[in-house]
Parts: sequence; structure tokens; C-alpha cells
Amino acid sequence: MLSIESAAGWSALDHLECPRCGRTHDAFVRHGLCPACGSPLLARYDLGAVTTTREQVSRRAPDLWRYHELLPVSAPEHVVTLGEGMTPLLPAPRLGAEIGVPGLLVKDEGALPTGSFKARGAAVGVSRALELGATRLAMPTNGNAGAAWAAYAARAGLHLLVGMPVGAPTITRAECVVTGADLRLVDGLISDAGRLVASALAGSPDDWFDVATLKEPYRIEGKKTMGFEIAEQLGWRMPDVVVYPTGGGVGLIGIYKALTELVELGWVSGPLPRLVSVQSTGCAPIVRAFEAGAAESEPWEDAMTAAFGINVPKALGDFLVLEAVRATDGTAVAVDDEDILADLALAGRLEGMFLCPEGAATVTAVRRLRRDGWLGADDEVVLLNTGAGVIYPGTVAVDVPTVGRDGPIRL
Ligand SMILES: *Cc1c(COP(=O)(O)O)cnc(C)c1O
Ligand SMILES: [Zn+2]
Repeated sequence: MLSIESAAGWSALDHLECPRCGRTHDAFVRHGLCPACGSPLLARYDLGAVTTTREQVSRRAPDLWRYHELLPVSAPEHVVTLGEGMTPLLPAPRLGAEIGVPGLLVKDEGALPTGSFKARGAAVGVSRALELGATRLAMPTNGNAGAAWAAYAARAGLHLLVGMPVGAPTITRAECVVTGADLRLVDGLISDAGRLVASALAGSPDDWFDVATLKEPYRIEGKKTMGFEIAEQLGWRMPDVVVYPTGGGVGLIGIYKALTELVELGWVSGPLPRLVSVQSTGCAPIVRAFEAGAAESEPWEDAMTAAFGINVPKALGDFLVLEAVRATDGTAVAVDDEDILADLALAGRLEGMFLCPEGAATVTAVRRLRRDGWLGADDEVVLLNTGAGVIYPGTVAVDVPTVGRDGPIRL
């Protein structure tokens, strides 16, 4: 049994709860999946004990740790940080007007350390793993999560084994190598990498901690801070709609969880935003399940999309994504890669934003939902641009002439 040095009132973490079987578990012991039923576990807080006001929070440093009462890390000394959080929430009026939703806002996660919102999950997940006594972490990744966890693991002095599909964006390999992670490239999909990592860990001593998506309860706690920030940046209120490119679904479940916690605290009121889960037609298991009225998804065969971060054939937390979408009167949409890349170029031209393909998929989804009448012209819609376009240089064909040293440049 570990004893964690906790700072009084720093975190209101109370216990872990299984969203499938309803059992509760001790949050101060290292848990992966629910020991009773194998479901992902969710962190639950004693929100009644939080006496901090939202005004106090707003005066704190502009990073995600400003929400520390609602995060699982027990004391400030255990925080492993690279300065993550408080990314800009930018109006995108020209792009919005073009797709019929002038009140369009883009939460730009590209500014985070390692270039994607995965830094949020890694900062909180690594900090918590460290204080729970883990020394060796292992995970499969589609690239960005591996890059982020590698950075934070290095910062914390923890060992990290990363299993990554060979097709993942090459920059993420370099990020793992430069931070000293034990990187293994897998000739397959993230699901294959996950299987290989899990079997390598099976029967290993328990200082190994499998930190795959939703296999431990704390990565989602970092990702949920997107929800806190959206509410705070809007002046402690909620938008009408939030549109999220969905792979493992942690970000969407996290935003739902965050906003639910804020409502329970009384920091925001009113209906939750309608949550929209966006996938590519090349890999759309959650959209298919949503349309079929199913509670869970079936594995997608031959998954393939340019939006690599959402190339997840079967998500462990699919049932939670579907629940969040349905509970908020949201929807799920699949869009074609060709349209995603066209909208990526459009956002660049109209707003100066180099979106990642996953982020661009949300633009395409909004365009479609507006055309179908699901979105109104007055809706305030927040898109999540989950990463920086600059980490996927291959998505843009650069076809420009070279001028000789003596010119001329003709206008
Ligand atoms: C991981 C990732 C996603 C999908 O996030 P989930 O929370 O796992 O659904 C979307 N976009 C980018 C850029 C990613 O790296
Ligand atoms: Zn359970």
C-alpha cells in the first residue's frame, strides 16, 4: 500500500467508479481497468468539498493545473509540467461564414507541447503514474500520444515503451527518440500495437503500468481540461455545440465529464452543448454504431484515413462516447478524406490556421450538419483542432516554382 503525500485541499479526488458495473474502487491504489468487469474506470471527486470559487481559478497561472481541485494529482510537488493548457479559443468568422455558421470558434490545441492535445493527457497521466509509484510505462499509439507521453515520461524520469504503427506520422518517431523512449514500430494498426504491448506486459512485474487509452483512469482527466477551458474562456458558460474528431474518444468523453462536473459545482448552468463525434469514412465505427442505435461499436475492417489520430478501429470507451453524444442530443458524422483535405486548405486560406487533418474533419462535419439543417446559422459552435498542422507536413502538396539565383521573379 502506497502512502501518498497529499496537500490538503489540492485535489478533491475521492474514488474511482466503474461506468459499466457501478462498483467503486480505491483511487489511491494503482488501478488499470475495473478489476470486476474490465471496463475503463472514471475518477470521481468530492465536489461538495470544493470551496474554491471560479473567480479564484481565473486568477491562477494560465495552464491546466489551475483546475487542480478537479484533477487527480495529490500535491503540487508531483506535477510534471511542460507548461500545458490554456490554448486559444479563436473566432473563425471568415471560415464560419463560408460554411454557414458565423459564430464558429476554434479551440486550437496545436500550441501545446509536442504539438497536440495529447500533452494534456500525458501531463496528468504521467504525474499521477509517478505519484502512484509506477516506474515503467507502456502504451500503443497512433503517434501523437506516444510523442507526448515520451516527453512527459522523460521529464519525470520514467521509462516508457511505445508501440507505434509504421504508418504513423514520422515526426512522432523523432519525438520518441529524442526523449529517450523505447520505441517499437509495428507493421500494423494501433489495435495490433496494443495487442503486442499488452502481451509483452502480461505476467511482467507490476512496476510496469499499461497506460494505453482508457486502460488507466487519469489520461482522460488531463484531456477533460479542454472542457473546463472552453467554459472559462466563454465567461463560464457553454457553447451550443462542440465538435470533436473521435479516435479513442477520450477527448469527447472528457469534455462531457468536465462540463458535467462544472454544472454539479454550480460554476456553469444550462443545458450541456450538443456533442458531435466526427470520424473519417475510412474508419467510422462509432458513427456506424450511433446510426444503428447500438450501445457499442464493432471493429472497423481495413481502417484507413489521412487523419491518423482518428484511425482507431475499435475504441475501449466507445460506449461512453455513444452515451455522451446521445445524452446531449448530439450526433455522429463520418466525412471523406478528400473533403477533409479541401477544408484544411480552406481554413488555412481564410483564417491563417494550419489545422491538423483531424481538426479539419470537424470543419467538414459542420459544413454538412449546417447543410442538413442539424445546425442553425445562429448556433455557437466550438471545433477542436486537436493538433498542429505543422506536424503533418505531408498533407499539403507544395508545388511551387524555384527561381534561379539571378531571378527574375515575375509578378
Ligand atoms: C489522438 C488524436 C485524436 C483523437 O483523440 P481521442 O480523444 O482519442 O478520440 C484526434 N486528433 C489528434 C490530432 C489526435 O492525436
Ligand atoms: Zn466494472
